[in-house]
Amino acid sequence: MGDLGVTVSPVQPYAARKQYLCPGCNNTIGVGVFHLVVVPDDEPDDRRHWHHGCWHKEMRRRFGAGTG
Ligand SMILES: [Zn+2]
Repeated sequence: MGDLGVTVSPVQPYAARKQYLCPGCNNTIGVGVFHLVVVPDDEPDDRRHWHHGCWHKEMRRRFGAGTG
């Protein structure tokens, strides 16, 4: 559970055995690539795999500190 309403879990390269589509950039996350799984606390079925960098951009976009 997180303050932002999502739970973010890292997926280590050895555990990344499939390709996923990153909703941040609409590019694939390759097999063996470190990335993140983001699960909304209120919709656990809606889990998404994100590139690390894309999630951080999304965080800024969604929750943006607005400090530039
Ligand atoms: Zn991405």
